[in-house]
Amino acid sequence: MTGGRARSAVVVGAGLAGLTAAEGLAARGVDVTVLEARERVGGRTHGIEVAPDAWIDAGAAYLGARHTELLDLIKELELHTTPTTMLGASRFALGSHQDGEHATRDGRFPPLNAVALGDLFDHLAELTAVVRPEAPWLTPDAERLDSLTAAEWAEQYLDHPDARLFFPLFLGEMMAADPAEVSVLHMAFYLRSGGGLRYLNAFEGGAQQDRIAGGAHLLCERLAGRLAERHHGTVRLGEAVRAVTQDADAVTVHTERGATYRADVAVVALPPLLADALDLGPEPPARRAGEPTGRGCAVKVNLVYPSPVWREHGLSGWSVNAEGPLLSTVDDSPAGSAVGVLTGFVTGAEAHRYAALGPGEQRAAAVAQAARLFPMLPEPIGFHVTDWVNEPYSKGCYAALFGPGDWLRLGPTLTAPHGRVHWAGTETSTEFFGLLEGAIRSGHRVVAEILDGEA
Ligand SMILES: Cc1cc2nc3c(=O)[nH]c(=O)nc-3n(C[C@H](O)[C@H](O)[C@H](O)COP(=O)(O)OP(=O)(O)OC[C@H]3O[C@@H](n4cnc5c(N)ncnc54)[C@H](O)[C@@H]3O)c2cc1C
Repeated sequence: MTGGRARSAVVVGAGLAGLTAAEGLAARGVDVTVLEARERVGGRTHGIEVAPDAWIDAGAAYLGARHTELLDLIKELELHTTPTTMLGASRFALGSHQDGEHATRDGRFPPLNAVALGDLFDHLAELTAVVRPEAPWLTPDAERLDSLTAAEWAEQYLDHPDARLFFPLFLGEMMAADPAEVSVLHMAFYLRSGGGLRYLNAFEGGAQQDRIAGGAHLLCERLAGRLAERHHGTVRLGEAVRAVTQDADAVTVHTERGATYRADVAVVALPPLLADALDLGPEPPARRAGEPTGRGCAVKVNLVYPSPVWREHGLSGWSVNAEGPLLSTVDDSPAGSAVGVLTGFVTGAEAHRYAALGPGEQRAAAVAQAARLFPMLPEPIGFHVTDWVNEPYSKGCYAALFGPGDWLRLGPTLTAPHGRVHWAGTETSTEFFGLLEGAIRSGHRVVAEILDGEA
C-alpha cells in the first residue's frame, strides 16, 4: 500500500488464516471487518457434537510438536491438546498377504513386501531432500519435476506390485491426492514443507500426535469471539465476496448480496481455486490458480459407537485398506466421553465415487466395511459424512493440489501483494502448506506485510 499506515482492512474468509490476520491487525489498532460466506466461522475446521459435550472433528484434527505457532495460539486461547489414541494392533485389508482378507499386525507397517516399501520410501526421501521448500520453483530440475504427475513417476520408478499398491494409499492419506492430479514437485514440496516423510506420517512424535480437546473448530470460534470483544473487529457471516476492486485511495469489496465495504487494504484468505474465482479490478498480473490446480479429495466419515469397543480387543482402530470406501480408519473418540468414534478417510479417486452415492448407500457401505474390519462392532449410534470435495466454499481438502506446471507458474507470485490486496491462506505458506500451522503462519505474514512493510 502507498500513502501511509493502513487504518482499516477487510478480510475475506473467516478460516484460521483470515481470523489470525484479522486478530493481528485489530490488536494493532486497525479497524477490521471479516466477511465470511458460510453461516459459521472456521472454514476447513468444523466440529460435530456426537454426544452431550463430546465433539469430533469433521475437518482438520491433528497436530504435532513442530506446529509451534499453532501450539502458541492454543495456549493463548486457553485451549488444550489431547493425545491421539493409537494403542494396540492395526488392521489391514491389502489383498496380498497370507492371512486371508484381513490381517492384524502390531504397529502400523503394512503386511507388504518390506524391501519394496523401503525402496518406495527411499525414492520419496530423495525427492523430498532435493526440493527447495521456501521456493520449490527454484529446485534443481524443477521444470522436469513439475511437468510429471506422481502417477507417471510411480509408473517409471516403482516396479514391485506392493509398492504400486501402497503408493496411492499413502498419497491419499498424506495429501488426499489422486497421484494423477499432482506434480512430482508438489508432492515432494508438500512432504518437505510438512516436516518430512517420517514426521508427517507419524502419530507419536509426529504430525498426528495430538488433537485439540473439544475440537479444532474452537480455534476459530475463540478468535472470532476475541475479535467481537475488541471494538476494532467485526465478523459478518453469510457474506460471500464476489469482487475486490481498488483505486488510488482504497479497496472496495463487493458481496453477492450487493453490499460493499471500503477499506485501506484487503486480505483475501481463501483457498486458491476460490481466490482465483474473485473478480479483481484491476486484474492482477498473475492468477491464484491454473487449469491444472485441483481439489484435495477427501470425504470424512465419522462412525459413532456406544464405546471404543475395539480397544478391548487389543486393536487401535487404525486400518489401511486397498478397497474403499474407507481407505483408512483411526480412533477419534473424544477424550472424557464414553462414546467411541471411528473416523474413516475416503480419499483420492475413491472420494469422487463415494461422494456421488446417496446418503443410504454411503451409510451402508461405510458401516459394512467397518464391521468387516472390526467384527466386534455393534450398530453405530451416530453416522456423519462430510464431503469436502463438493463444499462450494472449500472446493476440496485437505488443501489445493498443485498439478503439472502450477509451481513454476504460480510459485513466484504466491505471496506478492496486488496493490492493496494481500493474500493469506494455508496454500500461501511454504512452511506447513495445507495444514493449520501453515494457515496461522500466512496470517502472521500478512499482518507484517501490511503494518511493517515486511514481505
Ligand atoms: C477433512 C480435513 C482434514 C484435515 N486434517 C488436517 C489435520 O489433521 N491437521 C492440519 O493441520 N490440517 C488439516 N486439514 C487442513 C486444515 O483444515 C487447513 O489447512 C486450514 O484449516 C486452512 O485454513 P485457511 O484459513 O487457509 O482456509 P479455510 O479454512 O478454507 O478458510 C477459508 C474461509 O473462506 C470462506 N470463503 C470461501 N469463499 C468465500 C467467499 N467468496 N467470500 C467469503 N468467504 C469465503 C470459507 O467459508 C472459509 O471459512 C484438514 C482439512 C480437512 C477438510
